[in-house]
Amino acid sequence: MILHLNNSISESEAQKIAAENQAFCFNNGKQFVLITSSSLKEVPEGLKSKITESWVFQNDNQLASREYIKHTREVDFGTFKIGGNTKNTVLIGGPCSVESESQIRESASFMAGLGLKLFRGGCYKPRTSPYSFQGLGLEGLQLLAKMREEFGMQVITEVRDATHVEEVIEYTDIIQVGAKAMYDQGILRACAKTQKPILIKRGFGTTLQEFVQSAEFVLSGGNPNVVLCERGIRTFETGTRFTLDLCGVAWLKKHTNLPVILDPSHAMGYAYGVADLARACTAMGIDGLLIESHPNPKVALSDASQQLNHSEFEALLTSLKPVANAVGYNMI
Ligand code: PEP
Ligand code: MN
Repeated sequence: MILHLNNSISESEAQKIAAENQAFCFNNGKQFVLITSSSLKEVPEGLKSKITESWVFQNDNQLASREYIKHTREVDFGTFKIGGNTKNTVLIGGPCSVESESQIRESASFMAGLGLKLFRGGCYKPRTSPYSFQGLGLEGLQLLAKMREEFGMQVITEVRDATHVEEVIEYTDIIQVGAKAMYDQGILRACAKTQKPILIKRGFGTTLQEFVQSAEFVLSGGNPNVVLCERGIRTFETGTRFTLDLCGVAWLKKHTNLPVILDPSHAMGYAYGVADLARACTAMGIDGLLIESHPNPKVALSDASQQLNHSEFEALLTSLKPVANAVGYNMI
């Protein structure tokens, strides 16, 4: 249940009420908001005079639900916004990993030249083998920050575990919580304490409900700037790396108020399918696309098979713009 408290209620009183009702509490800029488990179906008698509005839910898709907020939330990415009434589809480009200063500068210079506003590069890589390249860590974050200064793009990078979450929050503009990290409550709770945008990727074995609940950890801690990212789920099919769940995207658009970004690169796993999938995603009317691209994919230290080379990426961007326009969106 979500409860909006009267404006006359002070912070200490709101915190006291929250503690008494095992509820989360934050100030949304207008009033204190209390959130309890969705199993609570009636406003407790003692609270009736202290609230202005209440919402009852079937499940724990609460702050993220369309029943609570009817429109898609607007999320401010610093130099531009997505969601709300913006009708922006942001293209996030860049390599899977930051590998070296020369590699990341070549990539950033190319993406900035195309007019991209948001540049990606992983520094703490969540690999499935301990013997694979694990990322440059802090050195990678510093290189990304340098690229932000040199090329004026916002940067997004992922957090692998709770040991370096503060470091990532400090260096990056947008924090990516990866498919394997989205259950890590240390990460989610730390992300709730900042106001920077958090992009949460769906785990490959995660139901839509669990995915939304991961977002609820951040929202209920007081950070409203959450964006969901579908990146493929595991099915019986092995011909492609994962299966991009476009039905799930339709579900998220209908049942949640959070902007939705799609990542066809990790879903497909092979560069040959990424452009077709990206156009299909864009035609759904979405808030963003995340596409991996490397100056020389053959020598990439992670996700080599799925990264587009620069000429493929440029051709894709040209082809995406009219698709976005056809469904009333702007590719930025
Ligand atoms: C990535 O974006 O490079 C990545 C590792 O993604 P995911 O968490 O979706 O596997
Ligand atoms: Mn990758």
